[in-house]
Amino acid sequence: MSDVWAEAQCNLARAAEIMKLEPELTERLMRPQSFTEFTVPLRLDDGRKKIFVAYRCRHQDAVGPTKDGTRIRPDLTPGEIKALALFMSVKHAVADIPAGGGKGGIEADPAALSEGEYERLIRGFMRRLTPKGAFRDVPGADLGTDARAMAWMLDEYEQISGFHAPAAVNDKPFELGGSRGGHEATGWGVAAAAGLAAAELGLKNPSAVVQGFGQVGSVAALTLAERGFRIVAVSDVHGAVADPAGLDVAALAAHVLKTGRVPGFPGGRPADPETILETDCQVLVPAAVQDVLTAANAGRVKAGLVVEAANAPVSPEADEIFERRGVTVVPDVVANCGGAVVCDFERTQGLSNDWWPLATVRERLEKRLVGAYAESRAAAREFGTSLRRGAWIKALRRIRAALLWRGWS
Ligand code: NAD
Repeated sequence: MSDVWAEAQCNLARAAEIMKLEPELTERLMRPQSFTEFTVPLRLDDGRKKIFVAYRCRHQDAVGPTKDGTRIRPDLTPGEIKALALFMSVKHAVADIPAGGGKGGIEADPAALSEGEYERLIRGFMRRLTPKGAFRDVPGADLGTDARAMAWMLDEYEQISGFHAPAAVNDKPFELGGSRGGHEATGWGVAAAAGLAAAELGLKNPSAVVQGFGQVGSVAALTLAERGFRIVAVSDVHGAVADPAGLDVAALAAHVLKTGRVPGFPGGRPADPETILETDCQVLVPAAVQDVLTAANAGRVKAGLVVEAANAPVSPEADEIFERRGVTVVPDVVANCGGAVVCDFERTQGLSNDWWPLATVRERLEKRLVGAYAESRAAAREFGTSLRRGAWIKALRRIRAALLWRGWS
């Protein structure tokens, strides 16, 4: 894996340089406000004890309480957690969410644990997480955790505190105070951002390719199709299908629900997943993993618009190639901030005990996306730079203002 922390710091440094951010503020934001490493002892089903290493990073809480996901995977690194916390600071600030960036995780393989072991690990993490709570640090889900894990975290928190506190944990099941639309939020946001960029470029009913058909890619593809995009190819880790006339995405989603994989879909022709990003299309939506567009293939991409649904799917080298070639890239911090926006809605609903209908969630999410996109574009124009740098500048301005008001510089 590439050095994601160095890449995240590089994005920060370049935006800071362009906007001439005060050096002491740049230095402050180049390091997390706090990064803790702690251990979670776990009693295994066979009676043995095992120690797991856990992390929590709070990039800054000048704008509001830190918030976001808990990642569990065997080769998790401190750098990955720090980078993701910085990205969350930027995503919150770009969408005008009054929250700082947080990220946590455990070095563990969830698939190697029994359900009981996994539950005890999650509860142990929450017990040892300091600080926590709706006004301090609000954990949510990420790779390796889900709504069930968040339900255990909330239950653990409420047992410790002795009161109900739905706003203390995000990505919960609806029945425990989760927001309607939380599962779909990131994919909806991706489609909204793609729609805004396509309109700006004057693309009408554009052809699009979506790489990755999981939580984000499937909802993004379905919503893009609803918005008039023609989805000409889709891939997952198993393979790809294509149809230049446009795939029936709802039928593809039903096929994936049934079989667990994209290949074998009768409504499309098998395609080569290795070259799917080079398909003849107008819009490319990488929604799988990071660093899939690199110096090796960026020159062969035919799309004029790339929408980063995944985190960091475009490497810094590919970003430069796209900029030279005039390919518009909607950066991850704008394109996939929909999940962070609805997590903020979830906390607001938890604090106010006012539960919004799905249409309200979607309408308010759309407004945030429109604002984030427009202000990122305005900053990009002001400084004659890319949309990515514009988004980072927009976010850094907001964080800078909060820091200055607090007299923290
Ligand atoms: P997911 O696990 O639900 O789905 C991932 C999809 O990508 C699957 O279809 C998988 O088969 C496919 N895939 C994996 N490796 C691939 C490869 N090499 N080539 C093609 N397809 C591949 O994950 P998700 O929640 O949909 O997240 C996708 C990306 O979006 C990740 O980068 C994640 O960090 C990012 N993201 C997710 C959210 C969210 O709310 N889930 C929010 C922001 C960013």
